[in-house]
Amino acid sequence: MSNLKVLVFGQVNNNLNELIAKANSIHNSKNGPFSLLLILGNIITSEDHVDALDLPGYFTSRSFDQLPQVFKEKVSQEDNFGEVSPNLTYLGSTGRFNVAEGLSIAFHGGSQDDGDIIPGPVDILLSHDFPTAITDHSQSAPLLADDVSMSKLVSQAVVDTTPRYHFAPCKGTFWERKPFEWPESDPANRVTRFIALDSYAGAKKWFYAFNILAQQSEFPALPPANLTANPFINNSQKDERAEDTKSTDNSAVLTAIDRPKRPLDTQQPGKKKRKTKTRTVNPDSCFFCLSNPKVDRQLIVSIADESYLALPKGPLTLLHDDIPTHILFIPLPHVPTFSSLPDESKDKVALEKRKYMAAMGQLYGPKDLVPVSFEINRSDGVHAHTQIVFIRKDTINDLKQAFLREAEMNGLKMTEQSNVPAEGDYFVVSLDTAQEYLVIEIAPGSYFDLQFGRKVLASHLEILDRLDWRACAQSPKEEESFGNKFKQAFKPLDFTL
Ligand SMILES: [Zn+2]
Repeated sequence: MSNLKVLVFGQVNNNLNELIAKANSIHNSKNGPFSLLLILGNIITSEDHVDALDLPGYFTSRSFDQLPQVFKEKVSQEDNFGEVSPNLTYLGSTGRFNVAEGLSIAFHGGSQDDGDIIPGPVDILLSHDFPTAITDHSQSAPLLADDVSMSKLVSQAVVDTTPRYHFAPCKGTFWERKPFEWPESDPANRVTRFIALDSYAGAKKWFYAFNILAQQSEFPALPPANLTANPFINNSQKDERAEDTKSTDNSAVLTAIDRPKRPLDTQQPGKKKRKTKTRTVNPDSCFFCLSNPKVDRQLIVSIADESYLALPKGPLTLLHDDIPTHILFIPLPHVPTFSSLPDESKDKVALEKRKYMAAMGQLYGPKDLVPVSFEINRSDGVHAHTQIVFIRKDTINDLKQAFLREAEMNGLKMTEQSNVPAEGDYFVVSLDTAQEYLVIEIAPGSYFDLQFGRKVLASHLEILDRLDWRACAQSPKEEESFGNKFKQAFKPLDFTL
């Protein structure tokens, strides 16, 4: 199982060599190298020479007829497959293909004549049309132009292949749908993410970069918390359609005790489909609220009057000199953002945070570690918290650039500010003792990747295998051991004792 870095570009319209130059420059930049490039939609080009790609690239076409002339000279209609220019491979219209790196790709050209894709799970599905129903159960669905075609054949392809990622081109639109789950999949916990990209060099986001473990056969026990109902599963009680669920930052002390464990067998005739409900988390079920009896006590390492410190589930970084290096700062009141703290505790929480940061500075500073802290403040969040990761001082130098670059890559505007915004939703990161904040303002209701901060850090620290916190989940015994190690080291500095 290898960890692959995949780059996806939107449809190209008579600027193929420009696209190739762009792909090569991203591949050869600090963001690269990438394992492969996927180009969505039909390639339209009248160019008679196609430059070489520096990385393997793949594309499909609705039909052989719609291939550019320059490519028709390279592959026969009979083969309907082959390398058409250096490193660029035409996959055909409808079918499946495993790229050399082990990634399984299925693709659907939208025509009935090509037959169906052979059923079976794939890593990535590429289609020219949107599957019908994809906008169901989604509050974030864009208004689609009339010329966006919705296809039942593509819906069938989604059901048949339960792809982990599904990409389709969509001129003038970028849409990353919240993920949905296949409750009776084997392996369990398969989740599909649908992403529509604008055409190459369009006004909206037209490229997408992500990491994927090829042909993963086991999935983490805990699915993402922002799942919506699966639009492809017929629910017998349609009137109880779930909306997009509330977002929850699950990289934290949260566990999913409230989620029923699913049996692994896939066929269960007559079994009622589980419905995804809009989730409102109250203090008695919030895993950051100490009043919740199910809170993981072994992860709590210090409690002050208005806030506390805990270790996260599935920490990004592990021990340094036998001391855990990833810590959470959490206010005691159950509020979604720090700015919504009640007046009587707001100043106290801020003061306690400064005291905790100073005390931890004394613990880690002599070890040449410095803090990176980040948090998401969303009014529809569950319980505010700050993630604090202590990293080696010599690795912090270009971290600011890494955040700015990753934000740009994701079409997000990140600005340096001397204060955090007084209101509104935002992501903020602060580096070491710098007196500035890097802020991304989040428009109400819009999608923001809850793992953004962790992803940038994982990539920067070159620990991509720890990118997904669920893949790093520890046993209660390990958690207890980490908790004890922190408490012991922090004891002489802990102002709450
Ligand atoms: Zn809470």
